[in-house]
Amino acid sequence: MNHIFPTYQQYPMEIVSGHDWHLTDNNGQTYLDFTSGIGVCSFGYSNTWIEQRVINQLGKIWHTSNLYPSQLQDEVASLLCPKDMLAFFCNSGTEANEAAFKLARKYTGKQQVLAFKNGFHGRTFGSMSLTGNPSIQTGYTPLVPGVQFADYNDDQAIKQINENLAAVILEVIQGEGGVYAGDPDWLHAVSQKCQQEGVLLIVDEVQTGIGRTGTKFAYEQFEMKPDIITSAKALGNGLPIGAMIGKKELATAFGPGAHGTTFGGNKLALAAAKAVLEQLTPTFLATVQQKSQVVFKEITTKLTPLEAVASVSGQGLMIGIHLKDQVKVADVIAKLQAAGLLTLPANHNTLRLLPPLVMSEADLLLGIDKIAIILEKMGSKVHSEAE
Ligand SMILES: *Cc1c(COP(=O)(O)O)cnc(C)c1O
Repeated sequence: MNHIFPTYQQYPMEIVSGHDWHLTDNNGQTYLDFTSGIGVCSFGYSNTWIEQRVINQLGKIWHTSNLYPSQLQDEVASLLCPKDMLAFFCNSGTEANEAAFKLARKYTGKQQVLAFKNGFHGRTFGSMSLTGNPSIQTGYTPLVPGVQFADYNDDQAIKQINENLAAVILEVIQGEGGVYAGDPDWLHAVSQKCQQEGVLLIVDEVQTGIGRTGTKFAYEQFEMKPDIITSAKALGNGLPIGAMIGKKELATAFGPGAHGTTFGGNKLALAAAKAVLEQLTPTFLATVQQKSQVVFKEITTKLTPLEAVASVSGQGLMIGIHLKDQVKVADVIAKLQAAGLLTLPANHNTLRLLPPLVMSEADLLLGIDKIAIILEKMGSKVHSEAE
């Protein structure tokens, strides 16, 4: 890759084709996919319903400016948004969070936003400034001012929520941070305090949303009342699309000229999103929950007892296997690749699993078995270094 900035430490192979939840690289090796990109291709790599919708749209028109209304945008918004909420379409997760940050400031007339350590909201300046991970911010100062951080799942954070804040932003499960789930009581308390103090609650569902945790949005499983929800990753199953979803009354601050985007809401990505959301039915979500139960049962039996494993976390098909320090997640990922399984890292030496939601139960269990075999072998390291 002589012509590309080396911003990614890349694996040695290129993925050249995919079918269902199987991928093939440029050497002809095939893999079972426990990544979905990074939580993107939840309906796999050959979903004909999505493919046909995109191909049909490709034959009609690809792009119109947002100066013209789009029936497709309205249809996708109606499928996507909870009751009494509106959507702003953009192209990525970071853009969705930028829109949320801007809207929160403009609507409230306040500047301060509370975010959480170990959180991740994206790489553009606003979203990066909300990201509680110094390694992502190093070298880019000055960041956007007015952002405070608190510890996730810490009661002290509740006290920091007061009427001087425009918004609080959080993930219900910190994905990049290592698949750390919010405590139900704590999430409820954050939401309640935001309401009491008139602070907008922004829930970043970029990774947790669109069925990943077994419901359309993860916050639905908690007693939370978000004012703004952000979505991206799986929304277009691989075509770039993001959405900032906010309560209707916020529209007074997002009138004509307040925000904009050339490509956001483009018809190809929207055709894909519509086809994704049409398939995200209660019946489909029930299959995700069912698969999740089977997978977590298998993980508890086969992975939790292993020497290499410190703990396991997650919800739905968003899973974190927290490895002991002696067992490096990068080594585990490389060994699993050689064994024909693609997996992801996350912070704090976490092996992150985000399989396509459509994967068969049999292949989900096969993947867990592959991980068990590799981790079993690597567990000897924990032993030898402990002695
Ligand atoms: C991936 C991610 C983002 C950023 O999305 P991009 O499309 O890469 O800009 C934001 N928030 C969360 C929680 C994410 O997982």
